[in-house]
Amino acid sequence: MNIILFGAPGAGKGTQAKRLVTGRGLVQLSSGDMLRSAIAAGTDLGLRAKEIMDRGDLVSDDIIVGMIAARIDDDDCANGVILDGFPRTVAQAHALDEMLDSKGLALDCVIEIKVDEAALFARIENRAAETGGARGDDNVDTLRKRLAVYHENTAPLLPYYADKGVLKTVDGMNSIDEAASQIDRILG
Ligand code: ADP
Repeated sequence: MNIILFGAPGAGKGTQAKRLVTGRGLVQLSSGDMLRSAIAAGTDLGLRAKEIMDRGDLVSDDIIVGMIAARIDDDDCANGVILDGFPRTVAQAHALDEMLDSKGLALDCVIEIKVDEAALFARIENRAAETGGARGDDNVDTLRKRLAVYHENTAPLLPYYADKGVLKTVDGMNSIDEAASQIDRILG
């Protein structure tokens, strides 16, 4: 089963992805986590990505698509993946279609986790406080930019996946457990 978890920054994609990894034996491919690992490791990619991420912009499609394409080829992904944070642009969605096609795989479901924007600010401020500001992009100014980028570049994927008949929406204003139950009901 190959799933995309979709939603604005702070919607809870990573939290739900981790639950699905434990519950269903899927592999989580989080583009944000992969980039943060590259930053922590001090690779060329990490050095280039850090500044872009800290200001809330998107890393280029070429870099992201290359990174996901390399990872999705690994043996452990054969049972299915949960994509978290990817795709984020229409070009990335097309690249994903090609990647899956070339492997004879299908996209089973895109789950949108929907959250009110005001709640996102509170969540990101909480996360910044809890992690001691570990993420350079967890602050109000950068979140404003990330949300603008989300509306401009990422939200257009909703009609794209709705047209394909794979889009489902869960209420991310509910508790983590309730959102998780909704996701479980969708995935069956
Ligand atoms: P969030 O969902 O909270 O915004 P992520 O960890 O998914 O956080 O992403 C953090 C940052 O990493 C993004 O703001 C962007 O700069 C970069 N990034 C992550 N995924 C992508 C992607 N698919 N395309 C371009 N940039 C990305």
